[in-house]
Amino acid sequence: MYDYDLVVIGAGSGGVRAARMSAAKGARVAVAEARFLGGTCVNIGCVPKKLFYYGSHFQHDFHDAKHYGWEFDQSSLKFDWPTLRDNKTREIQRLNGIYQNILENAGVEIHRGWASLQDDHHVTVGEKTFSAEKILIATGCGASVPTVKGADLCITSDDVFEMDSLPESIAIIGGGYIALEFAGIFQGWGVDTTLIYRGSNVLKKMDLALGDHLLDEMRKKGIKVLLNTEVTEIAEAGTQRQLELTDGTKHRYDAVMYATGRPPLTDNLGLEALGVEKNSSGEIVVDEFFQTSVESIFALGDIIGTPALTPVALEQGMAFANTQYGDSPTTVDYSNIATAVFSQPNIGTVGLSEEEARQRYPEVAVFESDFRHLKLTLTENQERTFMKILVDPVSDKVLGIHMLGAEAGEIIQGLAVAMKLGVTKKQLDATIGIHPTAAEEFVTMRERVR
Ligand code: NDP
Repeated sequence: MYDYDLVVIGAGSGGVRAARMSAAKGARVAVAEARFLGGTCVNIGCVPKKLFYYGSHFQHDFHDAKHYGWEFDQSSLKFDWPTLRDNKTREIQRLNGIYQNILENAGVEIHRGWASLQDDHHVTVGEKTFSAEKILIATGCGASVPTVKGADLCITSDDVFEMDSLPESIAIIGGGYIALEFAGIFQGWGVDTTLIYRGSNVLKKMDLALGDHLLDEMRKKGIKVLLNTEVTEIAEAGTQRQLELTDGTKHRYDAVMYATGRPPLTDNLGLEALGVEKNSSGEIVVDEFFQTSVESIFALGDIIGTPALTPVALEQGMAFANTQYGDSPTTVDYSNIATAVFSQPNIGTVGLSEEEARQRYPEVAVFESDFRHLKLTLTENQERTFMKILVDPVSDKVLGIHMLGAEAGEIIQGLAVAMKLGVTKKQLDATIGIHPTAAEEFVTMRERVR
């Protein structure tokens, strides 16, 4: 009756997972994609960003290495941007090919081009129109800049991946994941970096101590941080950009990058004409099984207002396939989702922040540790590692675990499993540590600080 059982619009993390798992369960599936296979994560997000993070962190490693006896001429250290950019691009192209194979091997047909809905069962991609019993929107989010005069003179993180050359100075506006990650990356590459944030607490949805400690470390590395500051106007100044700030001062930079959020890409898909409900942020409203207000249309991933994280979209894609084609209605548990910010040093966090815990529990026991990593003790590097555990003293249940320090994401992933299993503080204490590691602090924090 239909050309396909399912047409997925968007071949990012969520769309690809939903498409191939649905096909594996016997559905006839097509995917429409206007840009690149793998979506934001593979092409202009998680993967190339992490490669950039590794690349930029070498600067700090080189400086530390001399204290371990390595001799080389520090003044000849030079970062060649085109080498990293082009090696990264080759790797991403390899991953694009893998994504294509994954889809084709699963029997999913790929249609290249912009897709829009003609009605609740028809999708047009370029010149062709296909009928589908169900349509899944997984179009993700995209960069945006605020409506400040001259904002069109600025770049976003999307532009960084293929820059022709490295700026000598950059101002990064924002206080979220992208602003903090790219501030560390640019500084590591040797770019004179300034972070401009409108509030006083960066990463304000996380435990506030993480952002505070991170800003201390960023300043130690030479990043200039301007808090409670907004940009009122941007103007061209020769090859540079001149920013006017709320305190009336003017500053010039080679580049200005906005990292002020990524709104959902839900325009020009034909959703409005069909009456697909969106909320005031432009996110598509769905039920727990990803069904929109139109029966045959579903949506998942960054566009539905759940945490905009690749592993969340993957889980949703899996749940969608199980529900629709696996005879197994499956919902996603959004509690205790661990996340990492690849700032320098990294942040890893799971569970409630201290601020959230205090709102929900009459008393919260706080355990903290703040130390210099063993690896740095021979060096001049003054970076400190910060760890925090929050406990409900009545049940002894661990409510949140937070870390700022080397490999925080790697360490918190394991602790997130413990949190999912409902770990208590006594169980953490009864765990024998691995010595000498930073992670062992999480099982040896005995003194309650608050
Ligand atoms: P975030 O929502 O994390 O941060 C946006 C920041 O921009 C906030 O600090 C916000 O300030 C500020 N802001 C918003 N509007 C304005 C404005 N008009 N003027 C000045 N500042 C403004 O968004 P990102 O763009 O950093 O990242 C988007 C999402 O992508 C993240 O939320 C995350 O889900 C995902 N991501 C995940 C990564 C990871 O897993 N490591 C890495 C990168 C992105 P305020 O705090 O005051 O609201």
